[in-house]
Amino acid sequence: MDARECGRKSGSRPVPHSATLHAGYKNTTEMILREDIRASIAADPELWRDFEALCDFGGRLSGTESERQALAFLRKRGAQASGVSCRAVPVAYHGWRARDARLAFGDGSTAPCHPLVRSVATPAAGIAAEVVDLGRGTPEEFDAHREELAGRIALVRHELMFAAGTIHRRRKVMMARAAGAVGFLIAGPLPGACVAGSSGRDGDDGIPSAGISPETAARLARSSAGWPRVTLTTATEEAPAATETLLFDIPGRTDEWVVLSAHVDGHDLAESAIDNATGVAAALAVTRAVAGHIAPLRRGLRLAFFSVEEWALIGSAQYVTGLAARERDAIALNVNLDSVAGGASLTAMTSGFAGLEPFLLAVAEANGHKLRCVRPLMMNSDHGNFATAGIPAFRLVAGYDDPLANTRYVLTPADTRDKVTPSQLAAAAELSATVVLAACDAPPAEAQKWRSNRAPRP
Ligand SMILES: [Zn+2]
Repeated sequence: MDARECGRKSGSRPVPHSATLHAGYKNTTEMILREDIRASIAADPELWRDFEALCDFGGRLSGTESERQALAFLRKRGAQASGVSCRAVPVAYHGWRARDARLAFGDGSTAPCHPLVRSVATPAAGIAAEVVDLGRGTPEEFDAHREELAGRIALVRHELMFAAGTIHRRRKVMMARAAGAVGFLIAGPLPGACVAGSSGRDGDDGIPSAGISPETAARLARSSAGWPRVTLTTATEEAPAATETLLFDIPGRTDEWVVLSAHVDGHDLAESAIDNATGVAAALAVTRAVAGHIAPLRRGLRLAFFSVEEWALIGSAQYVTGLAARERDAIALNVNLDSVAGGASLTAMTSGFAGLEPFLLAVAEANGHKLRCVRPLMMNSDHGNFATAGIPAFRLVAGYDDPLANTRYVLTPADTRDKVTPSQLAAAAELSATVVLAACDAPPAEAQKWRSNRAPRP
């Protein structure tokens, strides 16, 4: 059963005249998505076509031809969906590319490994060191092995990304560095496959970091002879690089905005289908469906495609820091679509904005969608930059806290189009369109509540 099937109320629904919201959110008829808009998303053949086109470009790693093709495609598709021309804002960043990576064992055999994005290179001969297996790589495990890590390579496990209590890879790299480790290996969940990800490196310092398969990790188990010894070799190229943020503005009645965003870039292990061809295709479909209905509403819709998200959220960070205080205040809400299909459930990660949750739940319920709100701020996508700047922001994600959802394949070679169903993608687009229209039309007093980090009490 997918999100649409389990979320949809049975029986007939009223066909309201508009998606207009009124204070209090008691009159649910007023906040139900217009039937013609809902139907246009459900029957939109371009939603799946765009999703497949993005997958066809490949993983869209920033700095590759694959990313450039996707951006060129989106300049055109964004303009067609919104009816306005594209504003492309240049984004400068530290370009990085892996040329080679391998792991050699004492017996002369080798195993593949995949350098984490922006990992520093090893000397040409590699780093020869013992590997300390820290299991999952919790702070407790790092602490217990603190004395042993100096001069050695830390080995940890990749975790289910969209789950409560997940320890982000970036934290594990930092703990390894703090303990004096000279290298970092992370074992993926997929048999026979390496895992990708970002090293989280900021600046010039760092340790060589790479993803490996679970089988390679098994070969690195400690024995009575001690910690196993390997030689890790990574070769990289670094140079200043440029990409862009694509913006499409559909004005409302005032100079206030709702920003609908999705990141274009991904990793080069596969198609980056779930993460994030789903979000980009859904954002296009939402824009297509609502573009003609924005002008009479209070707020305009700004469609934003960011890149170098996998580079520590650089594209959106530059966008948000480039806004004047007045422009930041004029953004009522950021709706960030990242990995919105590939699981049966949809979750809004509300980034500490407790005051936003009643609005999102009311809109979802009125339209027969099940939605869960998860509150802690997680800097795991572009919404994090909006949230830290004080702009109400949430990330819509599929399969949160569901270990069997296909979102578990994100960052592996199995993040391919077959892990997503058309109905999951349509359900995410429909819910997003409903939230966007309601947010564009919400009264100022309601939008003010979204900025609160205090849970409202009746
Ligand atoms: Zn993502």
